[in-house]
Amino acid sequence: MRVLIIGNGIAGVTAALRLREKRPDWEITMISGESRFHYSRPALMYVFMGHQSYQETKPYPDEFWAEQRIDLVRDWVTSIDPRDRLVQLKSGRQLPYDKLLLATGSRSNMFGWPGQNLGGVQGLYGLNDLKQLYENVKSTKEAVIVGGGLIGIELGEMLHSAGIQVTFLVREKLFWDNVLPSEEAAMVSRLVRKHGFGLELETNLAEIVDDGDGRCCAVTTDTGKRIECQLVGLTTGVSPRIDLLEDTDIATGRGVLVDWSLRSSTPDIFAAGDCAELVTPEGQGNVIEQVWYTGRYQGEVVADVIAGEDREYLRGIWHNAAKFLDLEYQVYGRVNMGDEGARDIYWEAADGEHSIRIVYTESKVLGFNLMGIRYRQEVCQRWLREERGLDYVLENLREANFDPELFRSYEGELLAIARGLEV
Ligand SMILES: Cc1cc2nc3c(=O)[nH]c(=O)nc-3n(C[C@H](O)[C@H](O)[C@H](O)COP(=O)(O)OP(=O)(O)OC[C@H]3O[C@@H](n4cnc5c(N)ncnc54)[C@H](O)[C@@H]3O)c2cc1C
Repeated sequence: MRVLIIGNGIAGVTAALRLREKRPDWEITMISGESRFHYSRPALMYVFMGHQSYQETKPYPDEFWAEQRIDLVRDWVTSIDPRDRLVQLKSGRQLPYDKLLLATGSRSNMFGWPGQNLGGVQGLYGLNDLKQLYENVKSTKEAVIVGGGLIGIELGEMLHSAGIQVTFLVREKLFWDNVLPSEEAAMVSRLVRKHGFGLELETNLAEIVDDGDGRCCAVTTDTGKRIECQLVGLTTGVSPRIDLLEDTDIATGRGVLVDWSLRSSTPDIFAAGDCAELVTPEGQGNVIEQVWYTGRYQGEVVADVIAGEDREYLRGIWHNAAKFLDLEYQVYGRVNMGDEGARDIYWEAADGEHSIRIVYTESKVLGFNLMGIRYRQEVCQRWLREERGLDYVLENLREANFDPELFRSYEGELLAIARGLEV
């Protein structure tokens, strides 16, 4: 049996390794155009900032893959022929398969802005972007980043560390307020300014201005401003990378359409990770999950399914953790989702840099949103799974907290808020 995997990100490598465990005698080949070896994409910023070498972002030594008998091919797949079960590589080679896994990840969104192809304009997704960034910063004193999300803030921090003055253009009223509740979005917005970034809210990019030599020299905005800059970072989200499937019958929507066993519409072709779009029963909205841990989990599930087992992807309790500059952020469960009957308790420390939000209904707690405070993942997820009520959670909050010192100071305030008292 020959299994081909396109993509060596977390979804692809997890699938390859699990499949090797389950099927010692199958041929497994993993193809990626970006790099021969898997590396940790979230670590890109640390490489740029000098905290880690590129070598250190690779969780496995280079010789590991040969030991596992997983063939690595560094090339771009240009087309797929499902009828003859072949993939065509850019180098001219063709590779046959019996089962094919698409784990092609995402690409940065580009919305056709005038000037988006000028020199000095780039996204932040992979190693090529990193290489471009090393070049671009050489001639940059001022940069503009379009988009206020997690990748934008990382790019901002990277540029800031290189001594570059950065201005964010953010379409929303506050930084990331399409995801964060407004108090937390206000906290992040204050922090962004406190760290010396420019922040233009409710502002859209109108045009990237050409310096006459094919490089950017400024941007203009829909609020009538012109901001001088020698680098423009476009970080307005990512979309599944599915251009490869254009000339095939493999069904796509925003991503590769798959059932909950991660099977595509075409027999023996599967998809996992950022590029997969899980089809839900009508009206519920399909699911695309573009974070590390869901990619890993989908990689595990799809390997079992490819190996012939009956398995479905069960969406667990959502969680995400990240950093906005030096502010830690964690979310568990459903926060800011507009759930019917949802209410919340919100506590914010006097310094304006720590907060806790507990979202709940009459019967149970729905989610936690934490800024500058860490709660234990296993405890929060257990409470959410067990559908614990607000009173239970408040009584047992100590169990979730990592930091007993800080906990003592806010526990009383949080309980007072819960009981409707002023603090
Ligand atoms: C800068 C940055 C920071 C992030 N930080 C976090 C974080 O802190 N926490 C978190 O949970 N998530 C984070 N993410 C998201 C996370 O990295 C992704 O969800 C995850 O990497 C997706 O894994 P994947 O295996 O689906 O795809 P990818 O990692 O994108 O891998 C897909 C691979 O497929 C290859 N490929 C695509 N098309 C072809 C083709 N035609 N031919 C050959 N090869 C092809 C690409 O070269 C690529 O290497 C971050 C993302 C970025 C960009």
